[in-house]
Amino acid sequence: MHASSSATCTVCHSQESEIFVEVPNVPVLCNILWPTREEAVAVSRVDIPLAFCPDCGHIFNPEFDLSLMDYSQAYENSLHFSPRFQRYAESLARDLVKRHDLHGKDIIEIGSGKGDFLEMLCELGDNRGIGFDPSYVPGETERAKTSQIEFIQDFYSETYTDRSADFIVCRHTLEHIEDPVSFMDMVRRTIGDRETTVFFEVPNGLYTLRETAIWDIIYEHCSLFTKYSLAHLFEQAGFEVTDIHTTFGDQYLCIEARPRREPAGAAANHWDDPNEMAEDVARFALRYQQKTAEQRQMLADMYAAGQKAVIWGSGSKGITFLNMLETANGIEYAVDINPRKQGMHITGSGQRIIPPTFLAEYKPNAVIVMNPLYLDEIRQSVQEMGVEPIFLTV
Ligand SMILES: [Zn+2]
Repeated sequence: MHASSSATCTVCHSQESEIFVEVPNVPVLCNILWPTREEAVAVSRVDIPLAFCPDCGHIFNPEFDLSLMDYSQAYENSLHFSPRFQRYAESLARDLVKRHDLHGKDIIEIGSGKGDFLEMLCELGDNRGIGFDPSYVPGETERAKTSQIEFIQDFYSETYTDRSADFIVCRHTLEHIEDPVSFMDMVRRTIGDRETTVFFEVPNGLYTLRETAIWDIIYEHCSLFTKYSLAHLFEQAGFEVTDIHTTFGDQYLCIEARPRREPAGAAANHWDDPNEMAEDVARFALRYQQKTAEQRQMLADMYAAGQKAVIWGSGSKGITFLNMLETANGIEYAVDINPRKQGMHITGSGQRIIPPTFLAEYKPNAVIVMNPLYLDEIRQSVQEMGVEPIFLTV
């Protein structure tokens, strides 16, 4: 633990925040692919301290260093290869189009990645889209482009205020931003007097705490938002929060808001009591220790019995699992259905990423499923290969 554990909250700037857990020695950047094991294991590592703000309910890394980040084109975060995630994204897009009457509208997506979600929104409602992402690679998206979509390989900023939008969507981006207050103030200024609705989706910090979902903790996520801190951030930036809800088995947190017309401070805050999570915060460090100890032991027992395991899922959760547990170095392979990842190596721990078909030959005794939501589709695809491992969720 740090000698001085107090910190300034990155959402409400309260001085009351305190570090409540520290995750040691994980790779700085999670979703980078490495062609060789040597490159993978040579990456720089860092500790992740997490602080809790009792005033707005925010969880954040007070020692986050933006200069360590390099979101180059090697950054691989597309989850669209999983049928389960694909179904979720499609139902979300349909729901947004329906509830917000997105037909023939202008939509901006901040952090649009490879553009899959924006394309869905545009196709479903015949909308026009502009996607902003510094990691966008022209021509990499598989589906046919419509002429109604433009991708700009840049961070969204006030430079683009002239690009008006009826709807701004931003998914899994805000948690990466060092100064979310400046960012939301900027978004609010770009909207000006327009009637733009905004939709943001982030990992749900309360889920991480309550489910001890420690594999979700990665250095890139300098903020772990809760419904309290997310609402606080938007209201502070001059938005009226119209809805907050969780999705994807409570793992994600969605917020919808529109520019507030009344003078600042006049809005009522309905999400203002973070006290109910104080106990979850207080218990988390112990639960974290217990969970990592259990998993280390589980792996040690498996090796002692001469068994071999693979993990399924080489996204953030899988990478964190393999890097947080020293005993995970007995695992040789990580399965991923994304062909862009296969043949590459897990950052930090160095496991080779293999396609599911490899399991027919490798015959693992156990498949460790990193996201329980994918268990059914994974079990089915492994059993179709005639392999009968046990399936573990962690
Ligand atoms: Zn705060």
